[in-house]
Amino acid sequence: MPLKIAVCVKRTPASTSVAIDASGKVQTKGLPHGINPFDEYAVEEAIRLKEKLGGTVTVVSAGEAEAEEVVRAAIALGCDDGVVLCDPAFAGSDGSVTASILAAALRKAGAQLVLFGKETNDGASGQMPAFTGAWLDWPSVVNVRKVAAASDAELTLERPMEDGVDTLTVKLPAVLSVTKEINEPRLPSLKGKMAAKKAPVAKWSAADLGLAADKLGAAGSPTEVLAMEPVPSRPGGVVIAGATPEEKAKALVEKLKEAKFL
Ligand SMILES: Cc1cc2nc3c(=O)[nH]c(=O)nc-3n(C[C@H](O)[C@H](O)[C@H](O)COP(=O)(O)OP(=O)(O)OC[C@H]3O[C@@H](n4cnc5c(N)ncnc54)[C@H](O)[C@@H]3O)c2cc1C
Repeated sequence: MPLKIAVCVKRTPASTSVAIDASGKVQTKGLPHGINPFDEYAVEEAIRLKEKLGGTVTVVSAGEAEAEEVVRAAIALGCDDGVVLCDPAFAGSDGSVTASILAAALRKAGAQLVLFGKETNDGASGQMPAFTGAWLDWPSVVNVRKVAAASDAELTLERPMEDGVDTLTVKLPAVLSVTKEINEPRLPSLKGKMAAKKAPVAKWSAADLGLAADKLGAAGSPTEVLAMEPVPSRPGGVVIAGATPEEKAKALVEKLKEAKFL
């Protein structure tokens, strides 16, 4: 049976200058959006695995109807088809519930290997891959920097750790998240862009996935984001003046003495 690979992508703001409203929620309406930058590496790796092992790549995205844009962008790069998971009942879901929605869709799609980006450039929790693995009851390996060997039954992976690099094998079905070190994402070809316009992209609701409404959205979520605060901006620096490198070094030493570092 041909290998069924899936890659999960999120539509996120193409900017980090997001506003936070009075209720502490991130406001992204009206900002330009695109595929989450980390997900480009997951898409590339999924396509490379398909080129090596055969099979197909299905793109999966949960969100508003506009998520179809990023699904088609991934198809333009070489994925085969896609699914948008969209239902008013999904709105306000926390990470765990969002992962349960993804897991239900991945099962329905018949995925055997699922790739994720390391994190998003908005929520940036990095939780989705492990949560989804848990809902599927499959092994998950996060922060993979290299697929050293691959067959349709098992992968050998490298994962950076604080004190070195882990090399491990995982049997399929499995979930991976990948870092930016893993590859250099390709650009879409004209042929790919044309194919993406016509490629099948399904829309699945809670009913299509057999998910009960009371387990979804804010009401079904065990966690709630109470507030978000922007990272405080860095205080202004000091430029050390001096006509020569020696003068500058002397002035720097004086400053360090004043601050009692020396
Ligand atoms: C319709 C809908 C409405 C939501 N509304 C809210 C809300 O109002 N408030 C709130 O706090 N949260 C909400 N969420 C949940 C939240 O937006 C995220 O989707 C989820 O919690 C992922 O968290 P993250 O951005 O930290 O992803 P991370 O865990 O950092 O992402 C890791 C990887 O997971 C994948 N991924 C992440 N999100 C998705 C996705 N949606 N679809 C496909 N792949 C994905 C990507 O590959 C990404 O690289 C909603 C979710 C849905 C589906």
